[in-house]
Amino acid sequence: MTTPTGQQPGQKRPLAHPLKTVMDAGRHPWVWAELDAAEAEILAGLLDVFVHYYNAESVSDRAEVIPGCWRGHPRLMHELPVLYWQWWSAHHHPAAELSHAGIYYAKVLPDFQDRLDSLIGMGGAMCRKGEHSSAAQNHEIGVVRATADQILTQQASDRRFIEHAVNAFRI
Ligand SMILES: [Zn+2]
Repeated sequence: MTTPTGQQPGQKRPLAHPLKTVMDAGRHPWVWAELDAAEAEILAGLLDVFVHYYNAESVSDRAEVIPGCWRGHPRLMHELPVLYWQWWSAHHHPAAELSHAGIYYAKVLPDFQDRLDSLIGMGGAMCRKGEHSSAAQNHEIGVVRATADQILTQQASDRRFIEHAVNAFRI
């Protein structure tokens, strides 16, 4: 007996994906830095389709909408492939099981949606209206970098204090 797809019952489906060669090579297709330019272009196209699907099927509130300008939001640009690949792995990977899809909807998706506003950053409301502002994003990136610098400076200061304290107790 064969299934409608011509497979024998119990036969594993072959892994089929436009970025299969990336997976076969042991690279991580959710990491932009591990893709060459052509592969990154393929992934970006898949993400555009995924965003369209997501916005049509998985959104119950305006705050859950992924704006079409996702490429212009660095944190979202890095996390969106992770969401996409979790969705794909849970639904289309040959080894996918029902529990994987359950975890995607019960945990992965709501976690992503809870953080989406912060992933988009400033200007999210305008972006959701289709009016992306590079200025708002540049300001956001500047604020994030300044905060990161402040944390690193504080850590260096803490380290100096600890070293000082350790040296003081050695005397
Ligand atoms: Zn935007």
